[in-house]
Amino acid sequence: MTRQILVLNAGSSSIKFAIFDGPQFARRALHGMISGLGSQALFSARNHDGPLTGVMPAALHNHESALAWLFDWLEAGGHARNLAAAGHRVVHGGTAHDAPVLLDAATLQALRTLIPLAPLHQPHNLAAIEALAGLRPALPQVACFDTAFHCGQPAVAQALALPREMTAQGLRRYGFHGLSYEYVAGRLPEVLGARAGGRIIVAHLGNGASMCAMREQRSVASSMGFSTLEGLMMGTRCGSIDPGVLLHLLREQAIALDELEDLLYRRSGLLGVSAISNDMRTLLASSDPRAVEAIELFVYRAVQETGALAAALEGLDALVFTGGIGENAAAVRAMICAKLGWLGITLDVGANTRNASCITQPGAASAHVIATDEEAVIAAHTARLVVPDK
Ligand code: ADP
Repeated sequence: MTRQILVLNAGSSSIKFAIFDGPQFARRALHGMISGLGSQALFSARNHDGPLTGVMPAALHNHESALAWLFDWLEAGGHARNLAAAGHRVVHGGTAHDAPVLLDAATLQALRTLIPLAPLHQPHNLAAIEALAGLRPALPQVACFDTAFHCGQPAVAQALALPREMTAQGLRRYGFHGLSYEYVAGRLPEVLGARAGGRIIVAHLGNGASMCAMREQRSVASSMGFSTLEGLMMGTRCGSIDPGVLLHLLREQAIALDELEDLLYRRSGLLGVSAISNDMRTLLASSDPRAVEAIELFVYRAVQETGALAAALEGLDALVFTGGIGENAAAVRAMICAKLGWLGITLDVGANTRNASCITQPGAASAHVIATDEEAVIAAHTARLVVPDK
């Protein structure tokens, strides 16, 4: 019977899941999501034939109850007959993990110590692992880290200009979205041929957004550093900001820590500037000047970060767009590329409108669209660690 890998991506109130099977576990048999954990839980899933239905209890309070329900659903529907392992997206692997790891109690404990470095993501990623260990103790579990792809960056790209003893406390730049970058890096030879090993910037533009500079298909610099706040303007996150603003809010407005966190992670970015939405589609469809301003700032920041990473690379051979905005928002790509002529980028308007693989006219640098697939990367790593004879 064909073996299967379950891929899980657990957030604070949602769990995304997918099942891979077939040769090299490269076939996505089904995928879906449970959202609204802790309030009104919602379920959606689909396979090759279309949407699948499932009736969930109105309230699923935590990852454990959600996963228990999900396993019942998967097994009752014959979707998970022969699971070989589960692979998880885990935001932080710290300095110890430059590759995915088969989980045991000691490794899980080590990953718990990283919670202070990623308090909004790591606890939820680990909660799903712990819940699954309780529900299916015999099922091997693998953690795949968003930081791992960046581990080989030069020390200067990882450093913060703080007193050096603070580095030992973990205060350094890590970089995130590594599973997405790993997928895109793997596709570069097919898209760029011999130029794949050159100076590449990948722009992962989704709700969360960052950029990664690559040489030889490896990360050499990234726009996100210590936390998932740095760098680009995002859906609800501010991106890079003068730390003086934080000092001002703390001193002059005595803002509470939780409120400050909420402001920076959930009330800023496209949502904060537009006061309309964090969703790029909504903003692109709006003629409200605040929506226009929010998009303008998003583009301005993306162009600035491209410049910074091109400086780190000492030039640019290709720019790759990925993520929900990068893959679909032709208008945003056009606005970004229009300001990158100085790097040798000249947009091909027709190709860009079609979301073509190459969206530039011949020139010193090219721009491309590659649809990312973090789940496929997790499935492949999990299979490699758990089913070596695959
Ligand atoms: P996440 O970071 O949560 O995985 P995604 O990568 O799915 O997010 O990206 C979500 C973003 O992509 C949203 O801002 C959404 O509006 C945008 N997006 C998705 N499809 C389109 C589209 N066709 N046109 C413009 N923006 C789009």
